[in-house]
Amino acid sequence: MSQAWQQLTSSLWSVQSEAFILHSGVILDSSEACLIDPGLFPHEIDGIAAFAAERGMSANTMILTHCHWDHVLGPERLPQIPKTAHAEYSLQATGRQGRRVMKQAKDWETDQRIARSTPFVVPLPDVTFEETMSWSVGELALQLIHAPGHAPDHLAIYEPKSRMLWSADMLSDLEIPYVCHSLLAYQSTLELLSQLDIQVLVPAHGTPAFARADIAARFKMDAAYVEELRSSVTRAIHHGKNVADTVADCANMPYRHRQSNERSHRMNVESAYLELGGEADSPRIGWQGLVECID
Ligand SMILES: [Zn+2]
Repeated sequence: MSQAWQQLTSSLWSVQSEAFILHSGVILDSSEACLIDPGLFPHEIDGIAAFAAERGMSANTMILTHCHWDHVLGPERLPQIPKTAHAEYSLQATGRQGRRVMKQAKDWETDQRIARSTPFVVPLPDVTFEETMSWSVGELALQLIHAPGHAPDHLAIYEPKSRMLWSADMLSDLEIPYVCHSLLAYQSTLELLSQLDIQVLVPAHGTPAFARADIAARFKMDAAYVEELRSSVTRAIHHGKNVADTVADCANMPYRHRQSNERSHRMNVESAYLELGGEADSPRIGWQGLVECID
């Protein structure tokens, strides 16, 4: 099946995986190409590299936005392309999270009947950065911005010429914030990214937004959600509630697409409960509980 590419700015194209809503990106400028989280199926990864090659561009950079399984399957098929990620990515990849990614990738590939001769190994970056880094693609100067909260190594990509923000696993119109790492970090990241002048917003798991009012609304909605999450969980802890009662207290909080996001909302509440000082009998709750269960 041929891939349905979408041109989002003068330099950015994106393509959605056949597996589920996950966008990979290609930034092209002056005969250079930068791939963003190329995935998921082997033929899709090949197609993303071919997209650049067919336009006479040499794909000489790849950015991995964070170490979650659905963002890191591409490098194995494109070993010649150097990979850039946040410094924390390496710690994630070589620790328990890396083992979880390997298991999730294996489970998904088994489910999809994707044959392989050697086991999947989480790719490691060739270049890393701490807070921000300028990254050139042709004449463009991308800004890589550490954007933790969803994951400790999560990054966003800002392209100032077209005022494009690739927000990776944030600012979706379909998913609520998945606060897998830290609620306080998530709030700071939203605040940081909201200072940017954004004309095109591209989430990995959602619909791109092109109107400033829509972009502002997404920031506002996610900021309101995480703020209410924080205040509701803080209040529950203050009243001595256990995690189950806190989850029940937060069940009626407003959030979008309730059915598909119900589990993620519960995970957010459980994680926030631990982060904000609640005491639970087991650490195996919330998002971190999924990682703890690996060993
Ligand atoms: Zn993620």
